[in-house]
Amino acid sequence: MGPLVAPLVYCCPAMANSNQHHLLVPIRPAQITWRDGQPYSEQFGDVFFSRHNGWREAEYVFLQGNRLPERWRSLAGGTFVLAETGFGGGLNFMSACRHWLASTGPQCTLHYYAVEKHPWSVTDIRCLQRLFHQMVPAGGGGMPSDELMAALVDAYPPLTPGFHRLSLFGGRVLLTLAFADIEHWLDDIHIRAEAWFLDGFAPGRNPAMWSGAVLAGLARNTAPGGTASTFTAAGDVRRGLQAAGFKVVKTPGYGPKRDMLSAVFHDNVPMGPYPGSQKPWYMGTPDTARGKTVAVVGAGLSGAFTAEALARRGWQVTVIERHARAAQEASGNEIGVIFSKLSAFTGRDYAFYAHSYLHAIRQLPDLLPRDEHWQPCGVLQLAFDDKERRRQQQVIDSGVWPPEVVCYQEAAEAGNRAGVSLPVGGLFFNGAGWLSPRRVCEYLLARHSSVQLLNNTEVLRLEPDSGAWRILTADGKMVTHSDVVVLATAADTVRFEPTAFLPLSRIRGQVTPVPATTRSSRLGPVLCYDGYITPAVAGWHGVGATFSHRDSEAAARVDDDHENLNLLQDRVPCLYEALQVPQPGMFKHPVGRAAFRCHTPDYLPVVGPVPEVEAFNRQYAPLSKGQLKRPYEAGSYLRGLYVNTAHGSRGVTTTPLCAEMIAAYICGEPQPVGETMRQALHPARFVIRALTRNK
Ligand code: SAM
Repeated sequence: MGPLVAPLVYCCPAMANSNQHHLLVPIRPAQITWRDGQPYSEQFGDVFFSRHNGWREAEYVFLQGNRLPERWRSLAGGTFVLAETGFGGGLNFMSACRHWLASTGPQCTLHYYAVEKHPWSVTDIRCLQRLFHQMVPAGGGGMPSDELMAALVDAYPPLTPGFHRLSLFGGRVLLTLAFADIEHWLDDIHIRAEAWFLDGFAPGRNPAMWSGAVLAGLARNTAPGGTASTFTAAGDVRRGLQAAGFKVVKTPGYGPKRDMLSAVFHDNVPMGPYPGSQKPWYMGTPDTARGKTVAVVGAGLSGAFTAEALARRGWQVTVIERHARAAQEASGNEIGVIFSKLSAFTGRDYAFYAHSYLHAIRQLPDLLPRDEHWQPCGVLQLAFDDKERRRQQQVIDSGVWPPEVVCYQEAAEAGNRAGVSLPVGGLFFNGAGWLSPRRVCEYLLARHSSVQLLNNTEVLRLEPDSGAWRILTADGKMVTHSDVVVLATAADTVRFEPTAFLPLSRIRGQVTPVPATTRSSRLGPVLCYDGYITPAVAGWHGVGATFSHRDSEAAARVDDDHENLNLLQDRVPCLYEALQVPQPGMFKHPVGRAAFRCHTPDYLPVVGPVPEVEAFNRQYAPLSKGQLKRPYEAGSYLRGLYVNTAHGSRGVTTTPLCAEMIAAYICGEPQPVGETMRQALHPARFVIRALTRNK
């Protein structure tokens, strides 16, 4: 069952402004000491797992306690959603992976959703290795402990707050690990877990992990018939689980523990009110996981990443493109920058851009060959004026972003790293770099034989047809028929009748290619200021980019090339001098490439299902009278129609994550982001805003 299959009625939350900006709170990592070779939490005064044998405990209490080996052996395909409270050093996770890999085939995906307030560092996890080696039985057909550990260490994210979607074992396990407090996490997720590992230290040591609110939150996120197990048999936990709707049994515990608990969720328990973060209008979605054919309209970055994400999940994908080749509009640029300005503050936009950036640099190595298509050469963000210097100082002082993500470098050090002399220092982003949108689109569309590209085909009409869609040209000629449609058509999305309501605008941008010289070829990372220059790739630098609002001129302009180069000259004079650009007046003819980026008024992309606008206006009309508190039903959506657009100038960074979101919607999988972020990108936000502004 999908994550968005909603209960019928919701209590309407207050319309809190979740985009208010506060200082971000840095993560406090686990404080671990090793006692007799076993990890011990100084924060909670408790052991992480049984001193007896943590691995055997995981198998007994959590795997068998949820009957996972037998449930998994009978899985023919599809996904299984397993969730954990308290990820710790990942011992339970590795144990689950070992069984999953041994008992299911490559067509099955394990979604492991876990929360951890005080994450272990990779160094701490590596310290588990020897103990792990002693505990895990060799042979028996399971993956050796070293390989399991290597996979976790390899995928393990930087210790930054929020969600991290990690792919392990060739995508057979998708780990969505949130570094957050459990209460916030439960308020911000909407999953249907089929099993829970409840492992948050002994209730006496950590009551916050077992409170009534937490157990009700678990129940809200459990599929009917879903199970839970825990090492504790404490009466409060047993009663709390029962009150939340679980049928609980006491069974013999592991090692010296007399009892433990196993539980099954009743499917007839009325769901409690949803937390304020989950708004009824964003909760409904049609069940589309029945089909297996999808048409993706638009072969730019958004369409290409979406097609790839769906083909990877076994869908037959037809990509429809009006031009003769893929990537002919904004995604036709030779080069773009994978990068996000990080912030010291909370806020939906900052959070999304940081999250999509971290996701992109983690996912791209799995998806794309290096060098020709992308290069994680690093990005130096220059502190080019006082305001930017202060902002960068705040980012570092916040303590939120660890040095492996970003660090500050003075001018001399930054210049050494850059390979060219720099007038100022700035933030260095490890793992960031450049990506060639045009080549990446072509590569992704050719990656799976189940993706077919229809070029020279402009479609503009969509007609529902027995639960599927007929996709037609403007004059009514049918091009294809598919279960699901994803519009990845930038600002042209408004030309389709069901998405005409989206407030999309176009901002013109021009990038100027400049031939590299011997001196300029020394540039290692991308340099960002209020423009950017990429290192030499195939003998060329890209210098960008202009921003012109309300400007519809499609042809490149000499003035815009000058603007790009003048800015480079001003910000990085040494590099400008190293380039051989004609002086003065520079170019007689434009050399750049102009294109139109698609934006929304809030500068966030539009990603998700398409609302039935008239039904919304009727259903939520009381919002315009300020009636926020009454119970509303879930929103009405057009079955099988999705949109993935408005990536502005940041599609290089945002489209990998948004493609995973679209695939999660369509396949009924848990989302790679929290509810707050999902809703911030939701297409229906504009309909709701229009209603509430009327009030
Ligand atoms: N399951 C882990 C493993 O397999 O290695 C061991 C988990 S340990 C017993 C409990 C974990 O819960 C700790 O890592 C602790 O930091 C985490 N935790 C405690 N309170 C929490 C809270 N309020 N929110 C999220 N995690 C919490």
